[in-house]
Amino acid sequence: MNAMENRKSTTGKVIVLLAALALVAVTNACAQGTGSDLSGAQAGQGLPGSQNGNDSPGAQAGQGLPQTQVRYDLLNTAITISIYEETDDRVFDDVFNRIFGIEQAMSTTLAHSEISTIAAMAGKTPVLLSDETYAVVKAAYDISVESDGAFNLAIGPLVKLWGINTASPRVPGLTEIEIAQNMSDFGDVILSDTEKSVFLTREGMSIDLGAIAKGYAGDAAAEIIRDHGISSALLDLGGNIVTIGCKPDGTGWRIGLRNPIIGESGYIGVLTVQDKAIVTSGGYERNFVSGGRFYHHIFDGKTGYPSESGLLSVTIISDSSTEADKLSTVAFVLGLDAGMDYLLRFYEDVDAVFITEGFEIYVTPGIKDSFVITDDRFSLAG
Ligand code: ADP
Ligand code: MG
Repeated sequence: MNAMENRKSTTGKVIVLLAALALVAVTNACAQGTGSDLSGAQAGQGLPGSQNGNDSPGAQAGQGLPQTQVRYDLLNTAITISIYEETDDRVFDDVFNRIFGIEQAMSTTLAHSEISTIAAMAGKTPVLLSDETYAVVKAAYDISVESDGAFNLAIGPLVKLWGINTASPRVPGLTEIEIAQNMSDFGDVILSDTEKSVFLTREGMSIDLGAIAKGYAGDAAAEIIRDHGISSALLDLGGNIVTIGCKPDGTGWRIGLRNPIIGESGYIGVLTVQDKAIVTSGGYERNFVSGGRFYHHIFDGKTGYPSESGLLSVTIISDSSTEADKLSTVAFVLGLDAGMDYLLRFYEDVDAVFITEGFEIYVTPGIKDSFVITDDRFSLAG
């Protein structure tokens, strides 16, 4: 081979490589959906079971039929995994086992979970944790500090006092609230990175990962699905959504944003995304009425009461479902102004939809073009 031929063949290789790169770039982005496609989501024409109870934003509206769909009852919620391509069933076993393991370790209701053991040993001795549980507790602790307690991993005593996750919630007396509030101090949670241990300094304290564990499970499940080589899937963990790749027709996933008005259902808007987690915190999810007043399940540790920040819901759109979960709680407790400010300042890559009690919707600049309001009682503000 002479020098000229040699150069030619090298150039040929470079061209092939560039062509391959261009292909990757094209397949990385989902194609634009059509208008008529979107109306399917507006009408809420999802699959059977796509609106699970009152907590699913109806993620599967108008996506077409998945090849396989499996539902699990784990983490105190309904989990639906929909895979939109040919796959073998082992992936569903792997996902089940993974989430089951997370529940066993991190549940507050299972007496022998690592998190329950921490509470049982409160005021007595530090508890050594598995690497995974320690990492989630640490993430919850860090966001508690970072958000100045808007997210509060030590909120357990308040959550238990109000019985909000039980069949008999109630409005406690002022003294009880004061005591539980005092017990819900994340400053009294002592972590050891070297030992991977957690110590609650006072008996009666407890950790609650309810605002982050489902998000963590979403990331863990998505990782398994990707490891199985699957590139088109939709995960719904009780309303926490994780999307993988594009829909089979090559367009982005259209995720219905749950109507946050108490007692209503359906969607009020549609977000088009790919490879994103979408997590909403809202007062509509778990709540009760007492003495003509409405109480929900997200607490403000600074008052001891369900947070009253003027919001019906906050939705976070992020690459990480763990991050989306923790930030949805932070932003919901902080309210529109402080919450928006916080996200824009510290989480540039994250997008959000805030819905106020006045039915106004505020979105971050990154999703202005991919979010459509479908209920005309709501309007885009800001
Ligand atoms: P959901 O669990 O309905 O998806 P969130 O992610 O906002 O909603 O989590 C709410 C749960 O987290 C509550 O049920 C409770 O267990 C716990 N929690 C309540 N208030 C807080 C708070 N301020 N910080 C951290 N966890 C909280
Ligand atoms: Mg959350």
